[in-house]
Amino acid sequence: MATNLPLTGNFNVTCEYKRQGTEWIAGWHTGIDMTGSDTIYGTCDGTVTRIGTNDKDYGNFIVVKAPDGKYHWFCHLSRIDVEVNQNIDRLTKLGVMGATGNVTGKHLHFEIRNASNKYADNSNPADYMGIPNKVGSYNSENYQIDSTNNNTGEMKTLAKNTNLRNEPTTSSSEKTLYIPNTTLYVLQASVAQADGYTWDKVRIRVNGKEGYMINKNYK
Ligand SMILES: [Zn+2]
Repeated sequence: MATNLPLTGNFNVTCEYKRQGTEWIAGWHTGIDMTGSDTIYGTCDGTVTRIGTNDKDYGNFIVVKAPDGKYHWFCHLSRIDVEVNQNIDRLTKLGVMGATGNVTGKHLHFEIRNASNKYADNSNPADYMGIPNKVGSYNSENYQIDSTNNNTGEMKTLAKNTNLRNEPTTSSSEKTLYIPNTTLYVLQASVAQADGYTWDKVRIRVNGKEGYMINKNYK
C-alpha cells in the first residue's frame, strides 16, 4: 500500500487548489498548500527533470515528470535530497519542507502541471491525491492506494453517507455504509437503473472493496 501524497501521517490543507485571489498572477492558486510532517516523498514513479534554488516565487523546488506526462512541482523546500535525472518512486525522500521563496510561513506548495509544464496549465492535485480540495486536517492512512488498482476508472468523493451494495438495488442482501469524503473509483458508470436511481459499479479506494452505489451521492 502507498499513497499519492507527498506527506505521511497527519497533515493539513491550508490553501486549496483554484482558490481565487489577486496574489497569484493567474488570479487563482495553481497548486495546493499543505503542512505536516517535514519529509517530502515522491508522489509517483517518475524522473526528476528540474531543480530550482532560491527562486523568488517557488524558493527551492523540485520538478518530477510522472508516467502520464504531467509534472509534479514541490515548492518552498528547505532542503533538496535528489538530483536532476534521478528516478524516484513513492518511497523516495525528495527533500524537506521549508519556507523559501514567496511565502508567509513553512508549507509545501504541491502543483501538478499538464504536459506543457507551463504556469496555470494545471490538473487538480487534490483529485490526484484522492483528498478533498478543502482546507482541513487529514491523515494519510485514509488515502492509501492499492498499486494494482491505481487510477482505475474515474475517482469520485462521497458527499454524504452512502451504502456500497452487492447488487445495484436498494433491496440488495448486503450493504456497507461509507461516510462523506470517502474516495472511490467508478469502474463502470450507469450499469443499472433501479428503484428510481442510476447505479455505478465502484471500487472503494481505501480498501479495494467493490460493489454498487447510487451515482448522485458524489461531490
Ligand atoms: Zn501554494
